[in-house]
Amino acid sequence: MALLADRESKLLINGTLVDGGAGGFATINPATEETLGTAADADAADMDRAIEAARRAFDDTDWSTDAGFRVRCVRQLRDAMRDHVEDLRELTIAEVGAPVMLTAGAQLEGPIDDLSFAADTAESYPWRTDLGQATPQGIPTRRTIAREAIGVVGAITPWNFPHQINLAKLGPALAAGNTIVLKPAPDTPWAAAVLGELIAEHTDIPPGVVNIITSSDHAVGAMLAKDPRVDMVSFTGSTATGRSVMIDGAGTIKKVFLELGGKSAFLVLDDADLSGACAMAGFTAAMHAGQGCAITTRLVVPRARYDDAVAAVATTMGSLKPGDPTNKGTICGPVISARQRDRVQSYLDLAIEEGGSFACGGGRPADRDTGYFIEPTVIAGLDNSARVAREEIFGPVLTVIAHDGDDDAVAIANDSPYGLSGTVFGSPERAAAVAARMRVGTVNVNGGVWYSADAPFGGYKQSGVGREMGLAGFEEYLETKVIATAVN
Ligand code: NAD
Repeated sequence: MALLADRESKLLINGTLVDGGAGGFATINPATEETLGTAADADAADMDRAIEAARRAFDDTDWSTDAGFRVRCVRQLRDAMRDHVEDLRELTIAEVGAPVMLTAGAQLEGPIDDLSFAADTAESYPWRTDLGQATPQGIPTRRTIAREAIGVVGAITPWNFPHQINLAKLGPALAAGNTIVLKPAPDTPWAAAVLGELIAEHTDIPPGVVNIITSSDHAVGAMLAKDPRVDMVSFTGSTATGRSVMIDGAGTIKKVFLELGGKSAFLVLDDADLSGACAMAGFTAAMHAGQGCAITTRLVVPRARYDDAVAAVATTMGSLKPGDPTNKGTICGPVISARQRDRVQSYLDLAIEEGGSFACGGGRPADRDTGYFIEPTVIAGLDNSARVAREEIFGPVLTVIAHDGDDDAVAIANDSPYGLSGTVFGSPERAAAVAARMRVGTVNVNGGVWYSADAPFGGYKQSGVGREMGLAGFEEYLETKVIATAVN
């Protein structure tokens, strides 16, 4: 399979690779602005057929009850992806603009490996638990708790870490016994379409169990949230779109699982190694051009050391020049599109209007006139009330904010509509106490790594509802049934 030579990707509907009813739409290399090829453009009729196929595969086959078969199929998908990993790497760098370095981890190989966790969990999962015999209301009864698949899952995903997010939904949802319609972002259709090819050609996953619908029209994805044949929507994307999905799902009281935006804080306590902490904060904020929902984009430092912190983080971010993602040393590639670049630039303009200044960066790099690049930028001189400190920018941009002690640092971290992630650096006891008070789903203490297949990921407040990955992420895709049998 030569993925990049296959310049017209298809939809997967009911086990067959087909063209889109609306023709095709271009997929663009964000580092070069070149058109890579086209993806099938699904229309409403395609989505309708995909939902119907998923419904029938759930209702009329034994997919949902044959856990052993599902485990084998998920492992086949993992193995097929491993067998094509170099083609997938080339595709990921070209379509996503992901630096090659990151494809060894969360951009590609990590999520492929994580399919093992989903399969292993299904293999050992206690699908039935005996609650024992009791006499509720005087009637001797044996009670069993059964865990069962929810049904048809509509998965809607963004463009920033497409394999990670597509597979963190597909793996557990399939292993748990659901059928799926996956609708990826229009910016990264091939990362999803290639799953359709691998599933059709290299796995025994039955027709209709997975359907892949690429579309340039967001309304085609919105059908998943409204359709009564879909039992659950699993969405990752912006908080604004998540809100719309939740409203659309309300009509049928659908389970709505949401992984949304963030504005996470990196807290440096006054007994931390300031320059080491600032170097890590700068590196993290520039990685993949800041296009990560859990990236810490507010650096909160002791007021007395504010200028030192700004200088230290500017040294790191100023040295991470945006570059060609095919180069092994690149940390900061392009942002995904001209639209996203202009959005980031508008926030940089806003930072100046709000009274801030740039300690490094501030716009497009002078040496790159093609590609959607933005310089890693440190904004100084603002407090946590500034819009650039409150709103998600999704570019390589970090705002440095002063705090007046641990209580104030916690208050600043929590003074956000979001609650996705956070970091704290300081002496172990104080850092642990601060971490415990942060209203977020994941916290890094002194450089600890929370991202792994067995650890749940998700947000408090407007960062989401539910958890992806880990056992909690598997169980999101299950219903609970109590079977009470009278005992004579
Ligand atoms: P987006 O919300 O614009 O789009 C996400 C997906 O929703 C795309 O597939 C899009 O086509 C679809 N969509 C758009 N409008 C829709 C509608 N009305 N109904 C149904 N689907 C619709 O987000 P994006 O720009 O693709 O991605 C960036 C955002 O995603 C950022 O806000 C980022 O924080 C968030 N994100 C969150 C996580 C997380 O796990 N919390 C992970 C990655 C990205």
